[in-house]
Amino acid sequence: MNNLPEHFLDSLQSATGFSREAFVQAHAQAAVTSVRLHPVKGAGVFPGADPVGWCPQGRYLDKRPLFTLDPLFHAGAYYVQEASSMFLHHVVRSLVPEPEGLRVLDLCAAPGGKSTLLASLLDEASLLVSNEVIRSRASVLEENAVRWGYSNHWVTGNDPRDFSRLPGYFDLMVVDAPCSGSGLFRKDEHALEEWSEANVHLCSMRQQRILADAWPALKENGWLVYATCSYSVEEDEAILEWMSANFAVRSAEVPLEEDWGVVTSHTRSGLTGYRFYPDQAKGEGLFMAVVQKGEPATVLRLPRQQLQREPRVQLAWQSLLAHPDRFTVRSHKDLYTAILQQHASDYELLSKSLYLRKAGVVLGSPAAKEWLPAHDVALSIDRAQDIGQLELNKEQALKYLKKEDVDMPTEKGWKLVSYQGLSLGWIKSLGNRSNNYLPKSWRIRMDVSGYED
Ligand code: SAM
Repeated sequence: MNNLPEHFLDSLQSATGFSREAFVQAHAQAAVTSVRLHPVKGAGVFPGADPVGWCPQGRYLDKRPLFTLDPLFHAGAYYVQEASSMFLHHVVRSLVPEPEGLRVLDLCAAPGGKSTLLASLLDEASLLVSNEVIRSRASVLEENAVRWGYSNHWVTGNDPRDFSRLPGYFDLMVVDAPCSGSGLFRKDEHALEEWSEANVHLCSMRQQRILADAWPALKENGWLVYATCSYSVEEDEAILEWMSANFAVRSAEVPLEEDWGVVTSHTRSGLTGYRFYPDQAKGEGLFMAVVQKGEPATVLRLPRQQLQREPRVQLAWQSLLAHPDRFTVRSHKDLYTAILQQHASDYELLSKSLYLRKAGVVLGSPAAKEWLPAHDVALSIDRAQDIGQLELNKEQALKYLKKEDVDMPTEKGWKLVSYQGLSLGWIKSLGNRSNNYLPKSWRIRMDVSGYED
């Protein structure tokens, strides 16, 4: 791409670190392809690929494979994420070297790149709430959260203003705001067609609104990470200035390595932002900054955890989890969900204050003679390891992922099917044939014939 409009380039003239000629040249090159490996499921995937400097699980790929046709992608072995965005790993690790028992909100979370990164970073006692206001996008976020498989990763579908019901609740908040998208011009030419100064201005107004809505839910001394994939100062440093003027914020900086090519910019009020330009850092355009809340917040008291009746189906669900004693179950219309014990009070609170789309691991439901297991538990990293698993080759795995029947002679009953040892989902074997229990909405819709090798 080399048709960047002059008025766009002119508008960036005052941006720190902007170098017009090098920037234009970098836009004649293809976007960089990168993935982030799952810390548990992703061991050994993409061996030999170059690491991303600021994120130990990040890998650069020489070419862009058809990820849809890789069963490992569907198993959650890796997430396809733009490399610059993985800088969030470095930011969080620098602020909180050992994140323990934190409450974290990813406010604008779909499709889930930053959320799955956060899930990989936090300890089990931490709770990650990933929110997305647009319903169709929230379904994709939920699917990606299920695939990533962390029990402490919950998904909500709320407007940012609903978070004012949770004053002082979060220790860390990520606002990866909707923006004019200039940082993704190499990946998406539509973004280029839609770019205008008027839209930059509209986005900046919306960014202020979102931040004002979310701010009360942050604790005193809590951290707010603000990010956009826009180069425009109005959406980046000017938003930091707006925060300085409207909230009590303290600046926070993170150390950088010189060869990363990250540009540091400072605002007049003393806040710091980090800029990624494709001519200087190996990734697409990104802006990220972190501030600390320097004002007291009303602190919410957690409700007492409600005691649950012992479910009559306890034995059935317990056999699905590696450590059932760490969980408590909740049921809704006969659908059972396992919540980590330490998050039971959070569940009482959040289920009353927000539209909770996913909390904990969905285990399934009891039927007359058997337990109907949910897809969620098949992909969970907390699943019991002794559940019978049938290893599929690539052709069979793709058939399964297209929701076609995979006929393998096996004894009757529920089985997990796996590819390279990673679970893809459930089948129910009837002896000579089996039924495929992949959720319909998850199936691969493209023609996979000829791609099986
Ligand atoms: N964090 C995501 C990731 O890493 O995969 C990308 C988020 S994207 C930059 C911004 C998100 O904000 C989109 O999913 C969009 O639907 C959502 N959004 C749009 N309008 C919004 C609003 N008014 N309030 C909150 N979120 C909004």
